[in-house]
Amino acid sequence: MLSDSQRDLLKWSIRKPHVNSTCIWCSACIAISGDVFEFNSDGLSCVNSLPSYENKDIDDSIAACPVNAISWQEANENGEYLNWVIEHIDV
Ligand code: SF4
Repeated sequence: MLSDSQRDLLKWSIRKPHVNSTCIWCSACIAISGDVFEFNSDGLSCVNSLPSYENKDIDDSIAACPVNAISWQEANENGEYLNWVIEHIDV
């Protein structure tokens, strides 16, 4: 059973794509969702901060990634990932 604070957190959570460090810079995700993904200074794909990631062809980018580096993660209303166990690459 969820606590009140957990319920509040879920109320404000959004889905946000995440790229892990297995990215091999193939640029497939950028070709599909260029307003969402871009290469950072290390040459890895990273996720731009947007108010919403719905209708951005994220699922197509996930399917196109040859190393399964992209996944949906929960984030708060500030765009911060809620699951900090995974490695975080973001701009
Ligand atoms: S599709 Fe995958 S491997 Fe290619 S740039 Fe995007 S995250 Fe990296």
